[in-house]
Amino acid sequence: MRMENALENRDTFGVSDAVLLDDPDNTDEFIENLRKRFRGDIIYTYIGPVLIVTNPYKPLPIYAEDSIKKYQNVNYIEVAPHVFGLTDNAYKQLREENRDQCILISGESGSGKTEASKQILQYIAAASRNVSSVETTKDKLLYSNPVLEAFGNAQTNRNDNSSRFGKYMDIEFDFRGSPIGGHILNYLLEKSRVVNQSQGERNFHIFYQLLTGVDDATLSSLQLTRSVVNYNYLNQGQVKIAGQDDKKQFEVVKQAMSRVGFEDAEITEVFQIVAAILHVGNVNFKQDGHYGKIATPDVVKTAAQLLGCTPEKLTKAFTHRTIEARGDFVTSPLTFDQCTYARDALSKAVYERLFTWLVSKLNESLKSDFNGKRTLMGILDIYGFEIFEKNSFEQFCINYCNEKLQQLFIELTLKSEQEEYRKEGIEWQHVDYFNNKVICDLIEERHKGMIAIMDEECLRPGDANDFSLLEKMDENLSSHNHYLSHKIANNVTRKSLTRDEFRLLHYAGEVTYKVHGFLDKNNDLLFRDLREAMTQSNKKILQLVFPAGELLRKKRPDTAATQFKNSLAQLMEILMSKEPSYIRCIKPNDFKKSGVFDLEIVGHQVKYLGLMENLRVRRAGFAYRRKYDTFLDRYKSLCPQTWPHFQGPADKGVELLMKHLGYHEDDYQLGKTKIFIRHAQTLFAIEDAFQIRK
Ligand code: ADP
Ligand code: MG
Repeated sequence: MRMENALENRDTFGVSDAVLLDDPDNTDEFIENLRKRFRGDIIYTYIGPVLIVTNPYKPLPIYAEDSIKKYQNVNYIEVAPHVFGLTDNAYKQLREENRDQCILISGESGSGKTEASKQILQYIAAASRNVSSVETTKDKLLYSNPVLEAFGNAQTNRNDNSSRFGKYMDIEFDFRGSPIGGHILNYLLEKSRVVNQSQGERNFHIFYQLLTGVDDATLSSLQLTRSVVNYNYLNQGQVKIAGQDDKKQFEVVKQAMSRVGFEDAEITEVFQIVAAILHVGNVNFKQDGHYGKIATPDVVKTAAQLLGCTPEKLTKAFTHRTIEARGDFVTSPLTFDQCTYARDALSKAVYERLFTWLVSKLNESLKSDFNGKRTLMGILDIYGFEIFEKNSFEQFCINYCNEKLQQLFIELTLKSEQEEYRKEGIEWQHVDYFNNKVICDLIEERHKGMIAIMDEECLRPGDANDFSLLEKMDENLSSHNHYLSHKIANNVTRKSLTRDEFRLLHYAGEVTYKVHGFLDKNNDLLFRDLREAMTQSNKKILQLVFPAGELLRKKRPDTAATQFKNSLAQLMEILMSKEPSYIRCIKPNDFKKSGVFDLEIVGHQVKYLGLMENLRVRRAGFAYRRKYDTFLDRYKSLCPQTWPHFQGPADKGVELLMKHLGYHEDDYQLGKTKIFIRHAQTLFAIEDAFQIRK
């Protein structure tokens, strides 16, 4: 903050807390402040307790040991804004008040969320006590990252190391504040990437790491070649990335797996499954009358071998479908297109379940056997709002998730702000803000919302398809203010919709969704024959992730959207029960480039991250608050009655001081333990007087 870092030049490097800006309604001033700081490599700025980071896209020397030291045991507001400062503050509250914490990191893809989450972990590891058992916990926490990233991250057009899953991680602490364990929850892996990548993008890192990094003997035992272009699942998009050394990273990943406790046999099996998926992708079909037939039996054989099942089983599962109807099993052949669909469905399901297994394995290893009272620090690193050229079911889920998080942010920011005023006995002034609850309801409301309609269409026997779904949604939701049907949209001036689209007016902006694939992706069906083949596998991991009982279960599993909705509801509960801190990440340009600050791109993020609303809420009441003794300590020299010593209670001293300086009731209020100053200008004036006197 300016008053603490008086030397910081406001004109050159801006203010370290946006609350100190002149006009809370002036977005340009707000962005200009971020830009000034960015130019000086100052990537952090506060809005009160919320930390904003502008991704520098270059390494900065601000994360080493000396930086960590600088943030330990100080009030975060007295040092320059930093992720370490925010983390230390949360960690301090956890230790001193025994309160569970969570740090919520948001921002669009490539804005720096995952880097921030790693810096948090790094800080905690460095700042916590060194006990031998703690060391192994810290190690395991740190080593879980390369494993998750290898299997869950990929190069995209927005980020060379984009997380394609959502992650919530709890770190558990004992009463001394030493980390003793952890637990990871994963959300919605983008499994369609396994079979399909857009121009310029890659599949998950692990495929490339395996092909380039594995030794020759293992390579041939997996019946693979090193050449990426040989694999249908790898040769669609980009085959290489600048800067990432897949070969080297493979070693890191393997080592990390060992360090967190994977057995050698398990590691071998994991890579067999990864290799098997590449082979499955190379299985081709040919037309045989109306139906599809395997054109590459050798490839099926290799895949079957690595998956631990017979080629006959796999062949049948790729080309036939068995349906159970009233106790009878009826098997029918698949068309060419259905065969391709079945093949890719298997790859996606196997990969997704493998990923879930990896997470459960990490959790097993992070589990603590400590029985005493533990306190938690949660870190949420989850996909940001996405608007692509073409938006599908995945974007729908991701944007829904962001609506929920925004809802939580509104609730908690307003709530905690109000809470503070109430506690301090100060009257709260309401600020108008857009409450996105209506959009959450539109999506998730029981019986009426979009997910309910999708599920209904998925369950409807007969001719349900993406278009009948769209028809239903149009029919039921067109009157909603945040849903736009193509039928109506064509009559307004906004960019019109085609007949296969609908538009949602998200809190962060308008997104047009293409309805293609919605029903299939929501249904998320894996034909019975494929599941059966996997159930009979002799591979341990596949046996675990495809339990035989699954085939017997009569009840239809929840749809993808409903599962996601339930897990989000659970996540919201977890987060609500904790003390939140916020990191809002901003991407300065679309080219992954350092030194470029694009006003328009930043402006858009400032808007949808709700930063101006955040600032207004923060300023509506009082821009600045300070404990009486701290405030008096700094400014007592400005008033003869408090200088050099004031004998009475600090609040009395502050009152005398403010009166002496000529401020009125409007300018500030005196709470129970703190002074609340309404406008930043007041504070500037006091600070200036202090600087002159000094
Ligand atoms: P997200 O998780 O939001 O998609 P990442 O955290 O993966 O984004 O960041 C994308 C890239 O941006 C990183 O690989 C790194 O090159 C760069 N980056 C992000 N944060 C920082 C930072 N604090 N300092 C330097 N580079 C960063
Ligand atoms: Mg990420």
